Amino acid sequence: MDCDVVVAGAGPTGLMLACELALGGARTVVVERRKEPEKHSKAMGMQGRTVELLELRGLLDRFKEGAGVLQGGNFASLGVPMRFEEFDTRHPYVLLVPQLRTEELLAERAVELGVRIVRGAAVTGFAQDEEGVTVETGTGRLRARYLVGCDGGGSTVRRRAGIGFTGQDPQMYALIGDMRFSGDLPRGEGLGPMRPVGLVNPERRSWFGAFQHQPGVYRATVAWFGEPFPDRHAPVTEEEMRAALIEHTGSDHGMHDVTWLSRLTDVSRLAEAYRRGRVLLAGDAAHIHLPAGGQGLNLGVQDAVNLGWKLAAVARGRCTEDLLDSYQSERRPVADGVVRNTRTQAVLIDPDPRYDALRQTFRELMALPDTNRHIAGMLSGFDVTYRTGDHPLTGRRMPDAELLTAEGPRRISDCFTRARGLLLLPEPAPAVSPLAAWADRVDTLTTKAGGPEPATAYLIRPDGYVAWAGDPARHDELHHAAATWFGAAA
Ligand SMILES: Cc1cc2nc3c(=O)[nH]c(=O)nc-3n(C[C@H](O)[C@H](O)[C@H](O)COP(=O)(O)OP(=O)(O)OC[C@H]3O[C@@H](n4cnc5c(N)ncnc54)[C@H](O)[C@@H]3O)c2cc1C
Repeated sequence: MDCDVVVAGAGPTGLMLACELALGGARTVVVERRKEPEKHSKAMGMQGRTVELLELRGLLDRFKEGAGVLQGGNFASLGVPMRFEEFDTRHPYVLLVPQLRTEELLAERAVELGVRIVRGAAVTGFAQDEEGVTVETGTGRLRARYLVGCDGGGSTVRRRAGIGFTGQDPQMYALIGDMRFSGDLPRGEGLGPMRPVGLVNPERRSWFGAFQHQPGVYRATVAWFGEPFPDRHAPVTEEEMRAALIEHTGSDHGMHDVTWLSRLTDVSRLAEAYRRGRVLLAGDAAHIHLPAGGQGLNLGVQDAVNLGWKLAAVARGRCTEDLLDSYQSERRPVADGVVRNTRTQAVLIDPDPRYDALRQTFRELMALPDTNRHIAGMLSGFDVTYRTGDHPLTGRRMPDAELLTAEGPRRISDCFTRARGLLLLPEPAPAVSPLAAWADRVDTLTTKAGGPEPATAYLIRPDGYVAWAGDPARHDELHHAAATWFGAAA
């Protein structure tokens, strides 16, 4: 074997996964088609749950440096802010980090952890057998135990694995880009995700939206419903963007200094399976949808944090392949939910006057605390739950809290930098941890006070979700949970 895992693609998903695999002790090689890192950012924002996960890994300070913060979030540009403060979190906001910066920081971290990143080599095919998978990279071959396709929406790995990618064809078409404007921009009730700078054109079923992400530089979008692009894959020219602006807003607003242009649609698809034998999918390779509400990158990074510790444990022989089944059963429903909410948003941002009543009804619903919480939970990722037991906290993200320990105060969020499990016990501290036989994978911490229910014991997975919660004396239950998530006792 050249390594334990080959990751195809050095986007945010592949790089985060590589970091997680390395923390779990898996020797990892990332193969990236591009010779140089991307020069333009698609995503601009990081949702609250992703921020929490970066904090768990001790990476948040790097990401926060120079980053802005957006309060409230945006659902279908309805103008009703989401109340993230309703959740038990220290991060009720969207952190504004350009995707470029995210990739740069994750690549830096991956290299620190010993990951090899090979740029300028594309995964072109693979063959799997009982022992492993042989990955073709165009210029050579790599032999590994597992291959993960993090190679984006057009994933070669997914196609070569014969995994179906089903969903809905586009109905909305948009040109998007970064540029400056010398003229005034319309400041109306823009329907686009970048309101309030925007303009709705109900006659043409189109809208224009723009927001300033650097001094004088706008991310501008012109979107229309109905008429498809003549060629989905043709590069966008400045002339095409200018013509679209004039057609849908009546002016090019003095557009100049264009640095990036791209096409965008609301096509949505979900992989029919997340794993075929020794080959798995994560990120856009497994799900694509309209980037409404800023969720795609977050979904991919969270796939990576769900999969990384499990795959590392299986690849290193600590756990059986059953553990990998939980990756699909936990993450595919989350992606399905995101596909549904973005399809809902695609209808709500369609300026066709037939949807005005629907928009108004949604605005009223979003003003209700329960509905607002439901939508805010989906977009932020705070509501992601992997139900595995009867205790109300089982399967939920462990809320952060300050704990009082014999060694002094400690935050829960500081206990996961090495991506190990954590057993949180109430006092009195036992002479020997009930999970002593898992001490190579699970840390034990006794608290004098703190935690959601002080008399309860919690077994927390490396991704910060509660694997088991209950009476600290129930060693049988605790051992069963430890064996399920961390493998057999040493
Ligand atoms: C305009 C726009 C705005 C967006 N805004 C947001 C936002 O605010 N928030 C958010 O969460 N999401 C947003 N998204 C979505 C987000 O950009 C994607 O979900 C995210 O890039 C997915 O990351 P990924 O690593 O899974 O895939 P990608 O970023 O597509 O990375 C895949 C990588 O694999 C490489 N690759 C491809 N084929 C191969 C191969 N055969 N072998 C090796 N390497 C290969 C590619 O070169 C690339 O580097 C936006 C998307 C768009 C288009």
